[in-house]
Amino acid sequence: MIMEKNCYDVVIVGGGIMGCCTAYYLMNADNNLKVAVVEMDPGYVYASTTLSMANIRIQFSLKENIQISQYAFECLDRFEEEMAVDGDKPSISYRREGNLFLVDEDGRQTAEEGLALQKALGCQIEWYSPEQIRKHYPLYDPDGYVGGTFGPQDGHLDAYSVLMGYRAKAKFLEAKFIKDEVVEVLVDAHNVTGVKLASGERLTTKVVVNCAGAWAAKVARTAGLVLPIEPTMRQIFALDTKVKPEGPLPLTILPSGLYFRTETGDLILLGKSMDDDPVGFNFTWDRKRFEDILWPELAEFVPVFDTLKLMRGWAGLYAVNTLDENAIIGEWPKLKGLFLANGFSGHGLQQGPAVGRYLSELILGRKPSLDLSIFRPERILENKPLSEGGII
Ligand SMILES: Cc1cc2nc3c(=O)[nH]c(=O)nc-3n(C[C@H](O)[C@H](O)[C@H](O)COP(=O)(O)OP(=O)(O)OC[C@H]3O[C@@H](n4cnc5c(N)ncnc54)[C@H](O)[C@@H]3O)c2cc1C
Repeated sequence: MIMEKNCYDVVIVGGGIMGCCTAYYLMNADNNLKVAVVEMDPGYVYASTTLSMANIRIQFSLKENIQISQYAFECLDRFEEEMAVDGDKPSISYRREGNLFLVDEDGRQTAEEGLALQKALGCQIEWYSPEQIRKHYPLYDPDGYVGGTFGPQDGHLDAYSVLMGYRAKAKFLEAKFIKDEVVEVLVDAHNVTGVKLASGERLTTKVVVNCAGAWAAKVARTAGLVLPIEPTMRQIFALDTKVKPEGPLPLTILPSGLYFRTETGDLILLGKSMDDDPVGFNFTWDRKRFEDILWPELAEFVPVFDTLKLMRGWAGLYAVNTLDENAIIGEWPKLKGLFLANGFSGHGLQQGPAVGRYLSELILGRKPSLDLSIFRPERILENKPLSEGGII
C-alpha cells in the first residue's frame, strides 16, 4: 500500500456508476489499497447515471451482455443488504415490471435468435403473440406486429440511490472521493504516472481508470488517445395521460426505438434515440420533438394516449461508441496503466457491477469471474466492431 500524500494505487476519473462500482470492488477486494475517485460534479447534475431511464434488462443478444445483466440481477437482489453501512440500508425501489420488445416481420429472426440464446443461458424470457400482448396490456394495439419478447425479471430502479449505495460503501471502505476535474492524464513514454487536476494539484499513480462517461474521449485525449466516443443527447419525457393503465406497464420498446413505461405518480416516461440527436454537451430538452414526432407514434400504438399532458422532460448524454455501440473495457494496449470503462451508450447503468468487478480483477491481476475480454480496447485499433451476435 502507498503511504505518501497524493500518491495512490489507483485513480479513477469520474464517480458515476462505473467509477463508484470500480472503487467499491477494488476496496472490497483489498482494503489496503489507496484509491481516489475524482468527480467534478458530485451533485451528479449531468451524469448519465442519474439522468437515465434506470432500466435493467436481460434482453440482449450478445452472450456477454446477457451475462453482465444476470450478474446485475444477482447484485440488485442483495443490494440493500450488501451496501448497508453501519446498519443503514439503501432503498433502491427495484421494480421488476418487465420489458416487452415488440417484434415486426423484419425483426422476427433476430428476436427468435436472441430469445433462444437467452433461454440457453437460463434467462426467464417469453414469447407473446399479439393476442397475449392484448390480453396482458389491453391499451396496446399490437396489430402490425408478429408478437413480442417479454422478460418478466427486467425492470427499473432508483438510479441515484444505487449510485449513492455504491459510493457510500466505497467511502466506508476508505476510497477517497475528491471534488475536482482531471484536466490531464500524465504519462511518461508508455506508462501512466498520474493525473493533473483543475485545482493545480497532481495525484501520482501507476493506474488511472477512465470512467468519465460521455466525457471519456476528452479525458483520453489528454493522454494522446483517440476514442470513438461521442456525447450524444437523448431526451426523456414525463407524461400525464388522461386514461391511466390499470397496472404497471413494462418498459415497452417498439421496433422504431420508441420506448415507454409507467413511473410512480401515475406518469408515463417515454424516449427514443434518433439519428439526428445532437452530438455535444447539450442538456436542453425539446418539447416540440415530443409533440411533433413521438406523441403521434405513441398514440398509434396506445390509442387512448391520444389525450395527455406533457409534464416535463430532461436531456442526458449517451457515451456513444461509434465503432459498435458496445462497451470498451480493459487496459489500453499502448499505455500501461490506463484502463478504460467507456462507451456504454444506452445500457451502462446495469453494467456497472459486472464492469466494476472485472476492472478490479484486471487491475489486481486476478482471474476474472466473468470473462469480458470481448470488449477489449484492442478492437478499436484493429477496427473490429462487435455486433450483437459476435465479432463481424
Ligand atoms: C436518457 C438516458 C437513458 C438511459 N437509460 C438507461 C437504462 O435504462 N439502463 C441502462 O443501463 N443505462 C441507461 N442509460 C445509460 C447509462 O446511464 C450510462 O451508460 C451509465 O450511467 C454510464 O455510467 P458512467 O459512470 O460511465 O457515466 P456517468 O454516470 O456520466 O459518470 C461519469 C462521471 O464522470 C465525471 N467526469 C467526467 N469527466 C471528468 C473529469 N475530467 N474529471 C472528473 N470527473 C469527470 C462526470 O461528472 C460524471 O459524473 C441511459 C442514459 C441516458 C442519457
